[in-house]
Amino acid sequence: MNFHVLTLFPEMIEQGLNTSIIGRALEKELLTLQTVNIRDFAENKHNRVDDYPYGGGAGMVMAPGPVYRAFQHVKDQIISKKPRVIYLTPQGQVFNQNLAEEFAKEEDLVFLCGHYEGIDERALELIVTDNVSLGDYVLTGGELAAMVVIDAISRLVPGVLNNDTSAEFESFQDNLLEYPQYTRPEEFMGKKVPEVLLSGHHAKIDAWRREQSIIRTVNQRPDLLEKAVLNKKEKKFLEEYRN
Ligand code: SAM
Repeated sequence: MNFHVLTLFPEMIEQGLNTSIIGRALEKELLTLQTVNIRDFAENKHNRVDDYPYGGGAGMVMAPGPVYRAFQHVKDQIISKKPRVIYLTPQGQVFNQNLAEEFAKEEDLVFLCGHYEGIDERALELIVTDNVSLGDYVLTGGELAAMVVIDAISRLVPGVLNNDTSAEFESFQDNLLEYPQYTRPEEFMGKKVPEVLLSGHHAKIDAWRREQSIIRTVNQRPDLLEKAVLNKKEKKFLEEYRN
């Protein structure tokens, strides 16, 4: 997976992603990360990339030229000539695990980070294929959002996590939240690890975890349950739990 990030603050992206699991995956070249400074494509004396909005109003708008040229620079290097270009914007589709899985199938992904009041609409019309939001709030720039999306996609790339199954049984799989996790010691501040997890009985452990996932989802994210993938027994359990 090759990530290309168009940004005014490349150091933010590089510093943010070059640690821990993603940092190791970059070192192993399971992932590549190219940051492109939009300012390098300004083509004016003071490297200005923003200007006042037509029609008036507060703030500055990122000019279309530098953004468009920065994108062309990246596009010229990409083998798949029509890469998906993700503009991080509060106006986009809210990011979720399904979208992460969809993006993880691509070979190259281009991320476009806005700043100030955003980017001139014409540049967006010319290059963007996907508008993605982190949620219903406004950030100062798209960099943190791009890092979140890149992180979520990266852990789905084979080999990035040590154990491939750890990406399989997690929250949002089957539209359920993950069951509670425990590690040593067996007792902490008077609280014991559930007995079943010490039993060594894998079928019972799996059944308990599944039930816990259902309980968690009912209590914390009931909206997910509508699309949850449950078998007959689990549906019955859910009904009984609700009653
Ligand atoms: N004026 C824009 C609007 O009202 O839609 C907001 C601009 S915001 C201050 C600057 C940049 O931050 C945006 O261009 C976008 O790249 C990024 N951004 C802000 N909120 C975001 C969110 N919730 N998700 C993803 N990116 C966001």
